[in-house]
Amino acid sequence: MPESTMQKIVGLAKRRGFIFQSSEIYGGLKACYDYGPLGVELKRNIKDAWWRDMVHRRDDVVGLDCSIIMHPDVWRASGHLAGFSDPLVDCRNCKERFRADKAPRAVPGSAAACREGGRSDGKKLAGVVGPQGYVCPVCGSGDLSPERQFNLMFRTSLGPVDPMQQILDAVDALAALDPEARREKLAGIIGETAVYLRPETAQGMFVNFLNVLNSSRVKPPFGVAQCGKSYRNEITTSNLTFRTCEFEQMEMEFFVEPGTDDRWFEYWSKARFEWYKSLGMRAERLRLRPHEQSELAHYAKACVDVEYFFPFENQDGEGEWGELEGIANRIDYDLRKHSEHSGKDLSYFETETKKRYTPFVIEPAAGADRAALAFLCDAYAEEMIDREKNDVRTVLRFHPRLAPVKVGVFPLVKKDGLPEKARELLSQLMAEGINSFYDESGAIGRRYRRMDEAGAPWCVTIDAGTKTEDSVTVRERDSMEQSRVPAGRLADYFRDRLRLSGA
Ligand code: ATP
Repeated sequence: MPESTMQKIVGLAKRRGFIFQSSEIYGGLKACYDYGPLGVELKRNIKDAWWRDMVHRRDDVVGLDCSIIMHPDVWRASGHLAGFSDPLVDCRNCKERFRADKAPRAVPGSAAACREGGRSDGKKLAGVVGPQGYVCPVCGSGDLSPERQFNLMFRTSLGPVDPMQQILDAVDALAALDPEARREKLAGIIGETAVYLRPETAQGMFVNFLNVLNSSRVKPPFGVAQCGKSYRNEITTSNLTFRTCEFEQMEMEFFVEPGTDDRWFEYWSKARFEWYKSLGMRAERLRLRPHEQSELAHYAKACVDVEYFFPFENQDGEGEWGELEGIANRIDYDLRKHSEHSGKDLSYFETETKKRYTPFVIEPAAGADRAALAFLCDAYAEEMIDREKNDVRTVLRFHPRLAPVKVGVFPLVKKDGLPEKARELLSQLMAEGINSFYDESGAIGRRYRRMDEAGAPWCVTIDAGTKTEDSVTVRERDSMEQSRVPAGRLADYFRDRLRLSGA
């Protein structure tokens, strides 16, 4: 079978050092990934572009960096401890554990077919889709357990405490209790010292609302932005870094006067959609999907997702819309909840108008890893260069702002002082903060191809003419066109081109 687009992207990601399986030499750890030398640059560039466009280029948004472990009451107030759960289902045929709300839909009562144990050589089994209206995403069986809620928060304990010892001390008393009471007692023991890894960065902005207000002289409408790791014990993880248990978010809470919230919701929905396009993502693979009323969180007035058409494989072939970012109108829910639980007044007093109100919040919440995966998929292209020789070029067409390496620098040959001159130019580019890569091995055509696979927008070749005319050849990644540029102006030349691209 020919390789699918996604398999090719995964292969390239590993081969070129974008994404590796975590702890690979020990067999890997499910749903955990590491970013290699090119991947780390790509993700940093995405986060930098987000920070620059959301914080540095605006006078109404400030930044924040909160701790990952917060007071457990934060999660009590936000509702995460009680309700941050997904419906978990077990497949009785292949033993897969999956999320009911993400499982393939099927008409209740219709025929479901699968192979015994989910094995491709297993006996063919015929079944029926149950009243829940979905089947196992792995084997297609309709023989499923009932749904139960599974909390996604990662729990740990803070300080020199050992809940295990307390549990051991309580074992005898526990044995006398019925299972429900035993569970409750155990939850109490663990809960005494439990803290949680944050499942989103947003709560940090709400609990610091007063701190930011009092220290930064901001007033509504204003935003607080944060970029950092979040953790969710996801039931189903899949498709490389699309859904993992440890991931990075880029979130902003925009506080506005009630009554102006609809306008700001429209504003941010459009602005965030345009942001992906401004970084070169293909418009035809992007869409804004408003949430159905039934999908909305109980406190949300409106929500829209920016979705990208990923080349994931599924039952219908290749391609699936996946969320990159959600923009929600969270009204005053979060500030009110934290006000109730903490006893602190989180309202805002407008001195000019003598008005007091609890601001409404518009939240654009994006994922850095999902964005990196989407930009990687979107950049991936194969081009037939020479049909007779079946010469196909693989190229990553990253926007220059996102490209991990901006310029490949090559001496045409490894003699006549060309490597020295190339290294001198490389140093000049690096000194300007233009991440560049030196390569002197192999034919020049192969070096170009390697840089195409790394997604570098430009390559520079130093040849005999560099010494005589002080010029170099600049080769464009996308058009493969070449032009001569004065060597002495090289850093200015690329700085200008990067500036023109919006960097
Ligand atoms: P989903 O419906 O895909 O689980 P969500 O609606 O729960 O996502 P949010 O809570 O709105 O996601 O988080 C904001 C963003 O954080 C998402 O749009 C996504 O880009 C990113 N994100 C959320 N969960 C994960 C995850 N498990 N792995 C990678 N990125 C994630």
